[in-house]
Amino acid sequence: MFLVANWKMNMTRDRIGEYLSVLDQNGLSGILEGSTLEVALAPTHVYLDFVAEEVRRRHLPVKVFAQDVSTRTEGAFTGEVGVRNIQDAGATGSILGHSERRRYFGETDAGVTIKTGLCLNAGAIPVVCFGESLEERNAGATLSVLRQQLTCVADEVAGARKNGNDTPVFLAYEPVWAIGSGINASPDDIRNVLSAVSEGFPWPELPRFLYGGSVNLDNIGLLSGLKELSGFLVGGAWLDPDVFLDSVKALR
Ligand code: PEP
Repeated sequence: MFLVANWKMNMTRDRIGEYLSVLDQNGLSGILEGSTLEVALAPTHVYLDFVAEEVRRRHLPVKVFAQDVSTRTEGAFTGEVGVRNIQDAGATGSILGHSERRRYFGETDAGVTIKTGLCLNAGAIPVVCFGESLEERNAGATLSVLRQQLTCVADEVAGARKNGNDTPVFLAYEPVWAIGSGINASPDDIRNVLSAVSEGFPWPELPRFLYGGSVNLDNIGLLSGLKELSGFLVGGAWLDPDVFLDSVKALR
């Protein structure tokens, strides 16, 4: 299982230090030893380097992920952060197409597709987020929305595979209505969506799915029983290192 803590625009250098100390002092390495669990922390771009360095210094088995990358490779694009930059700062991959980027910052399906391709080409692991809003769900439009979000991404992955690219890809089902709301999708909701997305889209391989949306210590046990899931992408709950550790222990 792959567990990604999306810190969003939270955390400062001090708090990151404290967070990593809790993981270190409470034996994250020992907990993960011999298990198939892999964990990643996703700080804002400015702390990628710092988290990567601290994780290395403390010998913590933790990957570092970015929360977004640019649609451009390099050059005169003021304020942008490209795939090469995040890799240079120690990131293994990036979250892409998070609903907060779609909703507040004009992220488009075309942009997410370009970013997916750039990550794959660079050997950076994309975690592509998708999910419907409450209005779309209530209107019975979930599948058509997901088709719109993911068809081009599936084509992009298929094209990369044809060219011999074998960088792993994760798809994170994050229903917008479940993010930060305290209401998680039910196992049936998740199962239905994942089976429709697996079967109805041109994936070159069986997709690896994460789930995100109000995951916490009370529901992670139940949700982890879903054999369709390869892990979780969690925001609010995993800003607390003790909850993160307890979640890892619960899944161990
Ligand atoms: C997220 O934003 O990716 C997320 C899943 O948030 P939360 O866990 O707070 O619902």
